[in-house]
Amino acid sequence: MTSAAERPLLFLDVDGPLIPFGSPSGHPPSAAAADRGNPLLARLDPGVGARFMALGCPLVWATTWMEEANRTVAPRIGLPKLPVLEWPDADAEEGPRGLHWKTRPLVEWAAGRPFIWVDDEISTIDRLWVAAAHPGPSLLHQVDPAKGLEDSDFHTLTGWLDAASGPGGSAASPPLT
Ligand SMILES: [Mg+2]
Repeated sequence: MTSAAERPLLFLDVDGPLIPFGSPSGHPPSAAAADRGNPLLARLDPGVGARFMALGCPLVWATTWMEEANRTVAPRIGLPKLPVLEWPDADAEEGPRGLHWKTRPLVEWAAGRPFIWVDDEISTIDRLWVAAAHPGPSLLHQVDPAKGLEDSDFHTLTGWLDAASGPGGSAASPPLT
């Protein structure tokens, strides 16, 4: 891979990866977040957006927050307005039982381009379905929703990206994890 346009896409979930469900890590909810009626917003890491931007991948929201992620989450973590993965139409073809609602639209969005999916709800069904339906490299990275994104998660993402952009470029499939 040589240009930014060829960098893998990165689909990003909010609940779980950005807003961990575990016990708060000590700092009290900010008044601003509490005022918005959602104390969980205080769990957002203000610096996490910069870490994603540093990966150099085009970012796409893949979350039930939909456009609200741009209004409420992005400004708190230093991300610009991002494109949003849409819910599939009610009459859209369904996948196998257990396939996440995001999986098919996400693969369609990627259209063969390498991609990373960061989420806390990735299952074996999703991995199998992506392996069969998506011809390019992919990294389905599951985050522990109790902890949210940690250094080890970013190490995994950067390691995969380095492998994908190494000798042979995106033609060399990095190992599935
Ligand atoms: Mg989630």
